[in-house]
Amino acid sequence: MSIQTITKSLIDAGIEPSEAKYEIKMLLEHFFNYTAEDSARGKELTSEQLETLQEKVALRIKDRTPIQYIIGEAWFMGEFFKVTPDVLIPRDETEILVRQAIDLIREHNLKTILDIGTGSGCIACTIAKNTEATVLGVDISSDALRVALDNVTKLKINNRAVFRKSDLFEKVREDEKFDIIVSNPPYIPFGTELDTEVQHEPKIALFADENGLQIYRKIIEKAPEYLTTGGYLMFEVGINEAAQIKSLMEENFYEIIVTKDLAGIDRTVVGRLKAR
Ligand code: GLN
Repeated sequence: MSIQTITKSLIDAGIEPSEAKYEIKMLLEHFFNYTAEDSARGKELTSEQLETLQEKVALRIKDRTPIQYIIGEAWFMGEFFKVTPDVLIPRDETEILVRQAIDLIREHNLKTILDIGTGSGCIACTIAKNTEATVLGVDISSDALRVALDNVTKLKINNRAVFRKSDLFEKVREDEKFDIIVSNPPYIPFGTELDTEVQHEPKIALFADENGLQIYRKIIEKAPEYLTTGGYLMFEVGINEAAQIKSLMEENFYEIIVTKDLAGIDRTVVGRLKAR
């Protein structure tokens, strides 16, 4: 048994070779602090370590548990975030939304941010880490909020990202005005078939009624009461949802901009609250 044969077992089980190598690298680093440099220097793993590696890979192969749940961490915008099966695994695409928020905060010196459906807190924590703004993250799931709190500690951002259990705006007071409301809500229409890996993620973080649009509609309806005038409402959106979300926003928002991801798919919708 060697790192190579264990990598091959992952590939033979149908994991793309480049993905398999990446996952082995993550496992080696996480469990044994064994880096690419160690490998280049020909450092060997002990047989006990190889056995552990094989066990983790067996878990990955058996029911396709995402590697991030096996190691309990996910890489997002330069940091490792704690993740458990109670939270969605941060996705690369979400970086688009977060970068847009950070740019707006820096450009306009914005101070108060609300992140709805914060999950692992990856959006809230990354904004707090990279700006001077204060972020309130809300989520309906207490289990998710526990993970988000651990991430605040992990990233050492202390009280600049705070969390509250709330079903959307339920526990947010109207006098708490925000310069930005940001959200990557559940947006997959019920009934959509998911990859086996994705089936391990919490349903509540993935699926929404009204063909995936329900949570957007609810947020768009309430957001005007909680935003400063000219404040920004910013969403990550699912495939083919941008146009409908934009039209839901048109009554109360202006300068609505849709941005594509690297795959050319409409990925974020951002608008500003009209004066009322
Ligand atoms: N805000 C978190 C993220 O972007 C969780 C999103 C969700 O669970 N829908 O990863």
